[in-house]
Amino acid sequence: MKPILIEVPTIFESMTVNCWLIKEPEPVLIDCGEKTEAVWEALNVGLKKEGLTIGDLKKVIITHAHLDHVGMALQITQHSDAEIWISEPGLPWTDNLKGMLDARDQALIQAFGEYIREIPPFKFGYKQLSPYWDEIPADRVKTFPLNGNIEIGGESWEVIHAPGHCINQTCFFHRQSGQLFSGDALMEIIPPPIIDMSIEPPFERTQSMAMMLQTFQKLSELPIKTVYPGHLNIIENVDEVIRKQIKRIIHRKELCYQFIQEGMDNFYQLQEKIYPKRKVPPTFLMILGFLDLLKAEGKIAIERESKRIVCNSKNTDGTAAFSKKQC
Ligand SMILES: [Zn+2]
Repeated sequence: MKPILIEVPTIFESMTVNCWLIKEPEPVLIDCGEKTEAVWEALNVGLKKEGLTIGDLKKVIITHAHLDHVGMALQITQHSDAEIWISEPGLPWTDNLKGMLDARDQALIQAFGEYIREIPPFKFGYKQLSPYWDEIPADRVKTFPLNGNIEIGGESWEVIHAPGHCINQTCFFHRQSGQLFSGDALMEIIPPPIIDMSIEPPFERTQSMAMMLQTFQKLSELPIKTVYPGHLNIIENVDEVIRKQIKRIIHRKELCYQFIQEGMDNFYQLQEKIYPKRKVPPTFLMILGFLDLLKAEGKIAIERESKRIVCNSKNTDGTAAFSKKQC
């Protein structure tokens, strides 16, 4: 089976979104873009090239509940009989969008608040995103479990839970052919580790960078030959891409630690140092991720009031405190 790419625009970054069309035995779309006229136009043009219309779609399978992948789903249901398939933890994003966006906003505020006194003004809230994203009537939504199977192109594909970029991120893997629909879990670039509320008790904000590293590990153990990602190009050198991305995350985390050792004690300074002149949400999320990893390793601590980032005052064996210069 060869998925057909329908590339649609997005309001975010300077990218496009990949929607993957499978024509046989029935027309199925993997991800559908956000709700804008430009995306609607691109979907219609892409389908027409294949002799299809929106009305021919039987299923839209969503890799994860981010607006650039699911936002257009309602409009598709209004012009077709298509079922919208999403993972079980993705379901609340189809019928309680405001509640879920507010919860994610809170998780982000909490996470950045651990490191910064004045947190950056992110625009991921309901007010900003709701023009591009609709809820979907319950009778049009079907769910699949996080670790089950799903039918695509008349065959059974394994659902792989792949959190890191998004807590409900799923990939679909066809073991016989080695094909993987990866959503945003695996692309040519490292996806930003967006903070979510966890989907299990105790419902805390996620440690998204650690999850992403686990996901890379999980994917590296699968015999993947071809990746159809949510953005950018098809990937064939899968092992190499995964290895490079893990290496880059570890390298930048260590770089952060080195700067902290040298006395840099402020989140924004680290952000500017590691990503000069790139004050955009993904780079803030990356720095947050590196600091989360260093904190989990016990290498750094954050002063409660000032939010100064300092090397941990104790050796790992609990002996002698370092002075700031030596740490
Ligand atoms: Zn995306």
